[in-house]
Amino acid sequence: MRKYVIMGVQGSGKGTQSTMLCADLDLVHISVGDLFRWHVQNHTKLGAQVRRAMRAGELVGDDLVESVVRGRLDQHDWNFGFVIDGFPRNGRQAEFFMESYDIDGVIHLELPDDEVRRRVLSRRLCPGCGMDYNLIADRPEVEGRCDICGTALITREDDTPEALAARLRDYYEKTRPVLELFRRKEVIHDVYAGTAVEQVQAGIRETLGLPAYNPKS
Ligand code: AMP
Repeated sequence: MRKYVIMGVQGSGKGTQSTMLCADLDLVHISVGDLFRWHVQNHTKLGAQVRRAMRAGELVGDDLVESVVRGRLDQHDWNFGFVIDGFPRNGRQAEFFMESYDIDGVIHLELPDDEVRRRVLSRRLCPGCGMDYNLIADRPEVEGRCDICGTALITREDDTPEALAARLRDYYEKTRPVLELFRRKEVIHDVYAGTAVEQVQAGIRETLGLPAYNPKS
């Protein structure tokens, strides 16, 4: 059983790296942001509760976040383990998490702020299949259309300069101290995220002592 947390500033590639990590190791990727986005897109009651905060780039209240995380982990569909992404994001969430689950490692993706802005503001998302694009490094073949399902690409509502500034502020004020907490527990694995996607993945696997990436296995 492997239980990892992936942390890092916005745009550091948490989603991409988690997906690659889960692909051949049979881990389940649990992205709290994706869970919330699903609720917003499907107009659920929870979606209505979180939409305003998400749009402004603010953190959703801890009670809601904890019940979503608990509900997701209680599904116990993660026989080989999970990678949780976007959680914990503050001290209270970290305490809740550590009381309930043992963690095998925390992957910390590091990226300088100017690169964060460059990446986040050029990010596009397919609302059909969830595929991520980047207008600088990973453009779709047909402008504005998903390569996989052809749906028109959108910009995440919180990928605006204003919302990004709010998210970065929260990251440094609230999430950084969580990193320090994990660091004291010696579970942190720092990986520089400014290189090619495959290179970052190789760095993660090396530091965690995992087999090399093999998507066909
Ligand atoms: P992300 O995709 O991880 O950037 O998350 C998108 C948005 O979902 C965040 O800006 C928050 O509004 C909300 N969110 C995701 N995870 C959390 C969390 N652990 N605590 C509070 N809000 C969260």
